[in-house]
Amino acid sequence: MLDIKIVKTTAPKQKPAADQPLGFGKIFTDHMFIMNYTEGKGWHDARIVPFQNISLSPATMVYHYGQEMFEGLKAYKAEDGRTLLFRPEMNAKRSNNTNRRLCIPEIPVEDYVQAIKAIVKVDEDWIPTAPGTSLYIRPFIIATDEFLGVKPSSTYLFMIILSPSGAYYSSGLSPVGIWIEDEYVRAVKGGIGEAKTGGNYVASMAAQVKAHEEGYAQVLWLDGVERKYIEEVGAMNIFFKIDGVVITPALNGSILPGVTRDSVIKLCKSWGLPVEERRISIDEIYEAHKTGKLEEVWGTGTAAVISPVGKLRWKDEVMVIQDGGIGSLSQKLYDNITGIQLGKIEDIHNWVTEVK
Ligand SMILES: *Cc1c(COP(=O)(O)O)cnc(C)c1O
Repeated sequence: MLDIKIVKTTAPKQKPAADQPLGFGKIFTDHMFIMNYTEGKGWHDARIVPFQNISLSPATMVYHYGQEMFEGLKAYKAEDGRTLLFRPEMNAKRSNNTNRRLCIPEIPVEDYVQAIKAIVKVDEDWIPTAPGTSLYIRPFIIATDEFLGVKPSSTYLFMIILSPSGAYYSSGLSPVGIWIEDEYVRAVKGGIGEAKTGGNYVASMAAQVKAHEEGYAQVLWLDGVERKYIEEVGAMNIFFKIDGVVITPALNGSILPGVTRDSVIKLCKSWGLPVEERRISIDEIYEAHKTGKLEEVWGTGTAAVISPVGKLRWKDEVMVIQDGGIGSLSQKLYDNITGIQLGKIEDIHNWVTEVK
């Protein structure tokens, strides 16, 4: 249990108007959570302070060797006024898995969730309520030793910042085009692909730029060794429905284990659909498409929840899925998960936590 000191701002910012487009990750609330780590002392000085700049030496390790991690989840306002979080302990556990891989000290799951709840409570009035909007929560840890040698830092900062975010789809769910990357790779087994860390994102940018230039919204990564097996999309896991079977790549060590991915698997199974977590090759997808068996493709992640894929481009082939429209399972998953997150649909899996 953390002892969190709270210093409230004396100059609250103007909150966005109810009808103002929020976009993603551009507006920040009045406060932030911050906690230090010092070797020998552990995590200490948990506090909530006014949102502010931090000052660090140019020699700070995070700037040079990328020892940092992040998480992403959301707080939602239910119609009855309750503030809800979706499976935050999954983020806390995943955070510690990331930390172990990156030699960052772990944070007890209870403390992590307590910190999230505390900062969300303080800035609860910032949670937007227009359809599809939410308060994005960004916990992250950076290495703060002033040192240019390569070793794990002995000091860290854990911070949580909050950003009111707009509806991912301004006019309802809409399908995206995806570029299957066959030149660059994002991650390999044994690397850091299953950790949520900036390094994976910088590795993805060149392909992302290329995909955008070609008119595609996102990149789908193939495995780093044979460039043959499907891995995941930029910041989303990927699902296929082929001949009635839901298939997603197994967590093989180079794929990020998404909370939304796990929720989609559990929901599909609870509806009696066959679900397979296994290796799936791009040839299998191509073959399924050619024979008319590729029924639906969708990405899963906290930001978009469900992102239907209308078009897959692989080398010179363009595979159009569902005539570029939204599949019924994609729509049902979106409606159910967002319904549970907003407290509108019965939470039979016990996924929702109230912030009191
Ligand atoms: C965060 C992330 C996801 C999605 O995870 P969720 O917990 O569902 O938001 C997928 N892939 C990558 C690379 C990610 O960083």
